[in-house]
Amino acid sequence: MRPINQLDNGTTGTIGSLLEQPGDGRSGQPAILGIGRGPLDRGGLAALVGSAAAELSARGIARGDRVALVVENGPEAATAFLSLAAAAACAPLNPSYRRQELDFFLADLGARAVVVSSTLDTPARDAARALGLQLIELEPVDGGPAGIFRLDGAAPAPGPIPERAPAEHALLLHTSGTTARPKLVPLTHANLTASARNVAATLELGPTDRCLNVMPLFHVHGLVASLLASLHAGGSVTCTPGFHPIHMLAWLEECAPTWYTAVPTMHQGLLARAPADNSIPTGRLRFIRSSSAALPRPVLEELERTFGVPVIEAYGMTEAAHQMASNPPTLAERRPGSVGRAAGPEIAILSPGGEELPPGALGEVAVRGSNVFAGYERNPEANLDAFTDGWFRTGDEGTLDVHGFLTLHGRIKELINRGGEKISPAEIDERLLSHPAVAEAVAFALPDPRLGDEVAAAVVLEPGRKATEPELQEFVAETLAPFKVPRRIVVVDAIPKGPTGKLQRIGLAERLELPTAARRSEPTEPRTAFEQGIARVFTQVLDLPTIGVDDDFFALGGDSILGSEAVARLRESTGQQLPLVSIVRSPTVRGMAAELDPVSALERSGPILLQAGPGPPIFFVHGGDGEVLQFVALARALDGSRAFYGIRARGIDDGEPPAASIEAMASDYVERIRSLQGSGPYALGGFCLGATVALEMARQLEAVGESASLFVVDPRLPRPNDARYLLWLARRRARDGRLREAAVGRLRGTTDAAGIEPGAPAIQLALARIREAYRAKPTGIPAVVVLGDQHERFSIPAWHVLRVLPNARTVRLPLSHGDLLRPAGATELAPELGNTWDAG
Ligand code: AMP
Repeated sequence: MRPINQLDNGTTGTIGSLLEQPGDGRSGQPAILGIGRGPLDRGGLAALVGSAAAELSARGIARGDRVALVVENGPEAATAFLSLAAAAACAPLNPSYRRQELDFFLADLGARAVVVSSTLDTPARDAARALGLQLIELEPVDGGPAGIFRLDGAAPAPGPIPERAPAEHALLLHTSGTTARPKLVPLTHANLTASARNVAATLELGPTDRCLNVMPLFHVHGLVASLLASLHAGGSVTCTPGFHPIHMLAWLEECAPTWYTAVPTMHQGLLARAPADNSIPTGRLRFIRSSSAALPRPVLEELERTFGVPVIEAYGMTEAAHQMASNPPTLAERRPGSVGRAAGPEIAILSPGGEELPPGALGEVAVRGSNVFAGYERNPEANLDAFTDGWFRTGDEGTLDVHGFLTLHGRIKELINRGGEKISPAEIDERLLSHPAVAEAVAFALPDPRLGDEVAAAVVLEPGRKATEPELQEFVAETLAPFKVPRRIVVVDAIPKGPTGKLQRIGLAERLELPTAARRSEPTEPRTAFEQGIARVFTQVLDLPTIGVDDDFFALGGDSILGSEAVARLRESTGQQLPLVSIVRSPTVRGMAAELDPVSALERSGPILLQAGPGPPIFFVHGGDGEVLQFVALARALDGSRAFYGIRARGIDDGEPPAASIEAMASDYVERIRSLQGSGPYALGGFCLGATVALEMARQLEAVGESASLFVVDPRLPRPNDARYLLWLARRRARDGRLREAAVGRLRGTTDAAGIEPGAPAIQLALARIREAYRAKPTGIPAVVVLGDQHERFSIPAWHVLRVLPNARTVRLPLSHGDLLRPAGATELAPELGNTWDAG
């Protein structure tokens, strides 16, 4: 086999030449695939690129122009990139960028036009308009082969792939530097095709190989290793919407790839889901590739054990059009811990003075070759620093052994590598410094077992000013993409300086004695019903059986897609405008509980305003868990004519003891509502146990000459103890095995007398106990009783409810106990509640 460090023979290819190989008889072979989409073959891909180029040219876009591309990951991201790179120079941008970031990138690129996916909600359109750039909507064509699109709805008109010179720019990417201003890296057709060829040769890719691409196609790793290398080899690539730990195992089976390439955090996310019994169908998988951040050795070993194929670590960089070094694709030759041998360009280790160092010596890794770019655009200082005698200095520290294997030891450059995502700390400093309370700010890398680096920052505040960590995180998130928001921001009196008095970011986490970002402790079970609700969302989204309150969402396989899904579900179930960034800065159940809690510590147990309104308030009492968050959907479904307050129990998390009896609880709540509404009539409601409390509140109000009416949902009154009830219960138990089991459970002591399991949160146990001790005497208070179809599950017959509330009107809804308060149930409850108490 050819030594891989001799691959570089100065290629002269273009993107077009990767697509068009006339007469090679491969035009019918698949090139681009999508999940659940038919393949686009090589001929179809060449035709699509040709017609898109003709379309762009009709819009006045020529070869020297730069066109930004803002699209979701997937087959269209691949085909649009190829089209724009073939016709002009393409600058794919991260679709999660905020307006301010886009303003900078579009201006810095000197973009002539912006192509935006018509299905994407992005500030890129406004940014393009503000800069007077041409805006082109890219519309994916449904139902056709993967990756087919139209530009502004124009019907495809055939055209040739334009002739391009290898030295012309094809791809423009920004890299985070040591300064706040990202550096612009122009890559030529020659750089890209050289790198594509290097990757294909290293991995011995051929026409039958198929890559599963999970990398973002706005980064050189996905663009070159997955896409261009596959096309160079005559193979194909399945373009997924992005790494998704839940789907990844299924994709590996359904899409039958022969390889995939990813950053280490993705491999870890995948391993977190892999069945322990090694029963993974690996199909045609030949190897797994890892690049862009250091692959921890245990992850490499577990991947190899789990998938039974070699794991190939490679070393890449934007400035080198991705691949610089790689391990060979065979188990015998790959060397764990090393990023492999030069795999395309030449590699040297340089001293600070620029001399080449011998094997074994530690120095700065430098590269040169036809895949390496010519220099940063409009940035002479950066170029002066980066190039020495034709060598490009990578800013990474490493050693080469006598066999040419490179091992990385650290970084000279002050970059934060958050799981492969590169972040300039200076950009974060700059943002923090623009906060009025911040006098000094320094962002730095916090070691993290999963991501390699996490983003952290230390700030010194202006004298007399205050700013909390969440406030500052929110402030950063206003203008910077979520992955750049520091997970920790510590307020310090002075920022520690190095021995020479110079600020040193590297090692700052240690000097500040910050623990690593993700501390994995023994899992603590969610304690309150609120935490349990969040844990339920997390486990559903991550498809896990359980989760501890301090388990990190991302360490368990969550990614940005799953993170937004979790936030969307939490928004829906709580009705709160939770910002997306919350899951990044608080990725644990405990953290999200703090993010979500609508109640400040002081007013935790006061009536909580869930919906404002001009009319007299409605007070709704918590259920058996003491919480009110499940009332949010109901509050929102009301017409807004009256204020709606939820009453939350004392003793959940405020350090107070729970009420000792229903009577004491009701008297406490009466006092609290009277401080909001001085006199009646009072509108009282309650769910489940809250019905019993509301009933007692109404009784106490009547006793002092006030009037009240009730609206209770699936009331859980204490069980009666008379002959009629006991007979009813015996009949039901005879019919229903579950009830029998519950009764046996109580006898055996596995559930308590109130039917609550002993492991339930303390507040639930306390509330169940006082409920059973309460005697509900009949009262003529006007009431509406809503019964769901499971109300008898609590062994409380409807006739007993009517015995206690003889003046009640009953409404039956075919919904389970829990569903009554969920959004669908709430829309049915709201009109009933509105009819009971109109705007008053
Ligand atoms: P990018 O320009 O985003 O591809 O980032 C390039 C940087 O990622 C390199 O300069 C390294 O610091 C880092 N990097 C890439 N591959 C590896 C690897 N296999 N191990 C450790 N760091 C890596």
